[in-house]
Amino acid sequence: MDGLGEVQCPSCFEFFTVAVPPAGECPTELDYDCEVCCRPMIISVDGGGGVLARGLDDSLSG
Ligand SMILES: [Zn+2]
Repeated sequence: MDGLGEVQCPSCFEFFTVAVPPAGECPTELDYDCEVCCRPMIISVDGGGGVLARGLDDSLSG
């Protein structure tokens, strides 16, 4: 791992790269704005440095 992870924007579905926190700080969640469409999202980081983005709207509807 080089401290970077690729995520797919839940709003525009474009892929982009984000900085992943050190393993000692994972799992965690990051607030992030898409670099393509600038919509806010939550990026979940698991203990292995894997990243998954979800839209804020999704988290409210569940
Ligand atoms: Zn986007």
